[in-house]
Amino acid sequence: MTEKIKNFINGKWIDSADGKTLKSINPADTSDTIGIIPRSGQSDIDAAISAASNLYNKWRLIPAPKRGEIILRAAEMLNKRKQELGTLVTREMGKVLAEGLGDVQEAIDMAYYMGSEGRRLSGETVPSELPNKDCKSIRVPIGVFAMITPWNFPTAIPAWKIFPALVSGNTVVFKPSSYTPVCATKLVEILVEAGIPDGVLNLVHGTGEEIGEYLATHPKVDGVSFTGSTAIGEKLAKMCSTLDKEISCEMGGKNAIIVMDDAMLDLAVEGAIWGGFGTTGQRCTAASRVVVHEAVYNKFLNMFTKAVSKLRLGNGLLKITDVGPVINKSQMQKILNYIEIGKKEGAKLVIGGTTYKKGVCANGYFIEPTIFANVKQKMRIAQEEIFGPVVSVIKAHGLEDAIRIVNDVKYGLSSAIYTQDVNNSAVAERDLDTGLVYINASTIGAEIQLPFGGTKKSGLGHREAGGRGGAIDMFTKWKVIYRDFSGRLQKAQIDKE
Ligand code: NAP
Repeated sequence: MTEKIKNFINGKWIDSADGKTLKSINPADTSDTIGIIPRSGQSDIDAAISAASNLYNKWRLIPAPKRGEIILRAAEMLNKRKQELGTLVTREMGKVLAEGLGDVQEAIDMAYYMGSEGRRLSGETVPSELPNKDCKSIRVPIGVFAMITPWNFPTAIPAWKIFPALVSGNTVVFKPSSYTPVCATKLVEILVEAGIPDGVLNLVHGTGEEIGEYLATHPKVDGVSFTGSTAIGEKLAKMCSTLDKEISCEMGGKNAIIVMDDAMLDLAVEGAIWGGFGTTGQRCTAASRVVVHEAVYNKFLNMFTKAVSKLRLGNGLLKITDVGPVINKSQMQKILNYIEIGKKEGAKLVIGGTTYKKGVCANGYFIEPTIFANVKQKMRIAQEEIFGPVVSVIKAHGLEDAIRIVNDVKYGLSSAIYTQDVNNSAVAERDLDTGLVYINASTIGAEIQLPFGGTKKSGLGHREAGGRGGAIDMFTKWKVIYRDFSGRLQKAQIDKE
């Protein structure tokens, strides 16, 4: 079924002003058109920002617990529709159904967490140094937020941004990836049904190339929350810094798993499969490098290759499928180019390395799960984000060498170590320069109650998700209030009696 999708501006579902459209295609079967969507232009962005701006002062004055109740209602609705929405994620983005459902579950978890935040949003009350005076810090919203999101978590990532922004009292203009617009629209529909007032949340479809920068740099936008590639994130951040706009960017990764000589190798292989080929390697936290202690390198490589040879490619809606398609033709071409680069650089192609067109895969963007061995740290396949089912296996002489290799990239999102030695794990925990570190678990699997994000070129600005230092910091600013009820002029630092 092909859905006719619209923008949502000031409480109305409408086409783009000039009526132009785009198609959303199932990457597992390109004959399946999922949606026809508006290809919006600048006037659509203007209309959405104007609505968000007009509603801001009304929305920020609604008590936070009431705003939170709307998000909690959305949580219930998402929960009821999990199966339908998870199936849509798989159809539109390609990840296998268990992961499509996981994508929706993450949005549900975030809705419960951030809905409840409406009753926290806490600041500090501290004593004053002067009598009959009190002081406190409170969180206040920032204003109109632009949100630009990628296709790889089409429900979860928008939820990570929209829920904390709304509960904090901001209004929103949301531009989802043009590759997963239908998933984004369902999320907005649910929030509208849950009771978000007209104009508070606005959805504008279209291509990043045509409207992304215009949205992010618009004078009436106060803050930007972006998730996507480092190239685009850094470009937007530079532009916003000259415009005095808040911006936080979650960007690329070149994540790695360390396998020590004392690791449980079966567990490490499972972790490398999950990290390397889960979501077809299209996670910002995907383990695209496995750094293995030389004493177990050959053994691990054999076990890993054998396990990869058993992975079944296919449509993610089929129960037997382990690995789905990649998102689109240009991403497929980019991954194939990296495979050629790896071969030219002298890495050993152990398995995979080509497209796959057999059976149910005939009409989709499928690439065989690929392993390169004998990868040297300076090779491009060991340094650059590939964002596909390609894993480089690198030899290390010991823990220190392994940590050096993991840290020797421009990114710093996620890393993992498999070891039975508590001292190894403690050193790794201390010295791995990534925003997330996993011990005896793969590089993927973040939970929403803790901050999410990376160091170096993986993250800029505030972290996402929950916990201290998480998304509420992104979507609020601090205000400090001093109240003097002495009835006389009191001077801090000066009045000593
Ligand atoms: P992308 O090409 O950077 O696109 C991300 C978003 O930006 C999309 O909505 C895109 O719109 C829009 N965009 C494209 N060009 C733009 C421009 N010039 N100005 C403003 N916006 C623009 O990234 P992607 O391919 O969707 O996603 C993959 C990347 O996201 C990977 O690098 C991955 O590591 C990263 N990622 C990071 C995290 C994290 O939390 N660190 C999580 C998930 C993904 P269109 O879709 O219309 O092009």
